[in-house]
Amino acid sequence: MGRAMSDFDALSNRISTLSQGRASAVRMKDGIVSLVLDIGGLSAEERKAMTAAIEGEGRGYPSVTQVRILETAEKRAVKIIAVASGKGGVGKSTVSANLAIALARSGVKVGLVDADIYGPSQPRLLASEGQKPLAEDSKMIPIRGAGGVPMLSMGHLVEPCKAIAWRGPMVSNALSQLIDARWDGVDVLVVDMPPGTGDIQLSMVQKHKPAGVVIVSTPQDLALIDATRAVNLFEQVGVPMIGFVENMAGYACPHCGEISDPFGTGGAEAAARQMNIPFLGRIPLSIGIRTSSDAGTPPAAGTDADAEPFLALATKVKDWLSAQKG
Ligand code: ADP
Repeated sequence: MGRAMSDFDALSNRISTLSQGRASAVRMKDGIVSLVLDIGGLSAEERKAMTAAIEGEGRGYPSVTQVRILETAEKRAVKIIAVASGKGGVGKSTVSANLAIALARSGVKVGLVDADIYGPSQPRLLASEGQKPLAEDSKMIPIRGAGGVPMLSMGHLVEPCKAIAWRGPMVSNALSQLIDARWDGVDVLVVDMPPGTGDIQLSMVQKHKPAGVVIVSTPQDLALIDATRAVNLFEQVGVPMIGFVENMAGYACPHCGEISDPFGTGGAEAAARQMNIPFLGRIPLSIGIRTSSDAGTPPAAGTDADAEPFLALATKVKDWLSAQKG
């Protein structure tokens, strides 16, 4: 154990030098050393030489059996905010769409990518169903959705039910096309992630390196366990946590607006505290949110009470963005 620790310390130092500070999340478990390498701006030869040097260094330590390097692209000029959940049906798409609209309302130049291959619902939520994006110089041009937010969705590319049968690389290529589209004039890209914590999510995060992630959960324990998995996935790849949003938290009475709590309160907030993650607020279960979402008139674009939690969320996300360097 002591031997492994001192090998790891020495190897970590060497990795830092050999990678010219491009390595992060260096870990060792059961003899396997893993790290994330930012390869942005490197030529193919430089990249090869750097990974070979790191792997070669690893072979010099008896307690290290393997070195695993995850390559990621340089941080982009457009800041990606991933909206993720551990499972489907918790309102991740609803939160993504309305966060994007609320950010736009507060003056952020924002676009929206619907990467939810299993159920691309953004075209419906932002009233752009049936539209097909044009391309220029082999890059897609975003479509204007409700509230004027430029957007692209897997649902604009394929029939929703067809994408489910796609294999990993096809999905990954399609997602890259959406993210590397002509986002001219956009500073922040909200990405509605595929639900869950599998390979598709991991490779998307590695490849496109979000600036931060918002995790959406419902108040029930089971959803929170799933949310914890999502937190782990992003932490593993070194993506900063913007925070936790509790959706469908309490029921807003359509008659008097009073909120009741069929699932209890405070679960998500307590979980966030336990995990040392900021709590960004709760969004009530409201019939108005559901009906206006289904009608393609996002609640965050309106003026009634259903807009408020999304505007409050956007303020927190905007504050978080301003606090970031660069
Ligand atoms: P996910 O993207 O996590 O699968 P969706 O955003 O598609 O979830 O939401 C699932 C369903 O729940 C949709 O019908 C949506 O309108 C509804 N919904 C989401 N959030 C709320 C909310 N706060 N109040 C009422 N209905 C909601």
